[in-house]
Amino acid sequence: MSAQILDGKAIATDVREQVRLQVEQRVTEGQRPPGLVVVLVGENPASQVYVRNKQLACEKAGFKSELIQLPNDTSQEVLLELIDGLNARDDVDGILVQLPLPVQIDEHAVTERIHPDKDVDGFHPYNIGRLALRMPVLRPCTPKGVMTLLAHTGVELEGKDAIVLGQSNIVGRPMLLELLAARCTPTICHSRTRDLADKVRQADIVVAAVGVPNFVQGDWIKPGAIVIDVGINRLDDGSLCGDVDFEAAREVAGWITPVPGGVGPMTVATLLENTLQAAQLHTGT
Ligand code: NAP
Repeated sequence: MSAQILDGKAIATDVREQVRLQVEQRVTEGQRPPGLVVVLVGENPASQVYVRNKQLACEKAGFKSELIQLPNDTSQEVLLELIDGLNARDDVDGILVQLPLPVQIDEHAVTERIHPDKDVDGFHPYNIGRLALRMPVLRPCTPKGVMTLLAHTGVELEGKDAIVLGQSNIVGRPMLLELLAARCTPTICHSRTRDLADKVRQADIVVAAVGVPNFVQGDWIKPGAIVIDVGINRLDDGSLCGDVDFEAAREVAGWITPVPGGVGPMTVATLLENTLQAAQLHTGT
């Protein structure tokens, strides 16, 4: 039996339309549109594509978006001063500094400098702490987008065994917290995990975020499991693939996300949700 496809592109389109309608309503009521500033340091080609996609999405949602591009040799001091200025601006609801940053800049220092209520990426220790304490405010976009996808399956999450492959600060760890908050029983794995395949075989929900093409094999998947593939890997022929062997896994899983067209579009849609939420926090409506 072939798995049902969790169509992230279609679900993200719905989320974005919901955001656009809410923005339209706010503007009709006389409020300013939400404002997002994206800061791009250097010329990483992948980052340039991501930033362009985020900006286009903002425009379509009716946001006021601004791109600040800085040269690759920008010092940490200059970037932190820029963030201080953006923190102080009333017309800026969200600040997003595109990662990765050049080597001379400490990502943690940058993440912590963004005011938590403008941290639309949800990476600030305050926002991660709130999620850990089940009092979320701004939640990291990719894991939150995965929760939206899981909700679309209609499957009851409470009590499910879930496994997260990858323990990064931006995906794996907050994903674990999201699943725990949804009352799953999550396990997290990394490069030192023993008997990883056997652990995956126990799981009702598998979230793969390792960055290794086709890492998760079809015979690791429990029949009927929900398989969420966060990985985006570019192969030598220029094509994209995920962290899951999609063709093999879809024969066993109950639900599965494709790559591209799964988690990726949800991350951008969730960024819009977060920026609207930040604007609501700032204006009190
Ligand atoms: P990351 O920071 O490189 O972390 C990778 C994680 O995978 C690490 O925890 C690492 O373990 C673990 N890992 C690597 N090889 C492994 C192996 N052979 N066995 C078990 N664990 C292994 O990656 P990330 O930033 O979380 O991104 C992961 C993937 O998701 C990438 O393909 C990235 O492009 C993609 N991504 C997609 C979106 C989206 O919107 N769809 C957003 C963000 C990231 P250790 O900690 O032990 O090293």
